Amino acid sequence: MKALLLIDLQNDFCPGGALEVKGGDQVIPIANQLAEKFDLVIATQDWHPANHGSFAANHPWRYPGQVIDLNGLDQILWPIHCVQNSFGAEFVKELDTSNFAAIFQKGTDKEIDSYSGFFDNGQRKATGLHEYLQEKGIDELFIMGLALDYCVKFTVLDALNLNYKVNLILDGTRAVNLEEGDDQKAVDEMTAKGAVLVNSVDIS
Ligand SMILES: [Zn+2]
Repeated sequence: MKALLLIDLQNDFCPGGALEVKGGDQVIPIANQLAEKFDLVIATQDWHPANHGSFAANHPWRYPGQVIDLNGLDQILWPIHCVQNSFGAEFVKELDTSNFAAIFQKGTDKEIDSYSGFFDNGQRKATGLHEYLQEKGIDELFIMGLALDYCVKFTVLDALNLNYKVNLILDGTRAVNLEEGDDQKAVDEMTAKGAVLVNSVDIS
């Protein structure tokens, strides 16, 4: 059985947001159209406490884009984004959330970041998404959202490791592209591990 997994379609990742992804808002109509075609729609939400260790502002003399060691892991520092209960953390208002079966929040532990919808970056804790999908009998995922080169990529790679059949909906994603070409590198990495590239119009 198939499910649609929507990654981090939140205000802060769209134009005007704290960590805006160019064209991020353009994937919202695609999410709305696809949601009608799936029996099970699940969303993730980046959901940080204000003192989260991924925020440059929480480290003296550091700025976004620098890499630090955060509890033993390389951590890219980001602008303050998706703070719990803030406007930036809310789903984009144009996104139809009415048929979401479940929402999985990540990045809630200030000590570690969580790009993937399944685990934190050290794979120390699970979000519960895998158990939920197992309970529902899901073996194939269609994944889209923001951003392609971080949270979408790590969710896809974890899903493949967990033996799901994974379809990446390419027109339903946009990349941060800290470095030019990060989007293509991310796509290559996902397809090398077994992700199938699809376009939203081809999903029936
Ligand atoms: Zn985050």
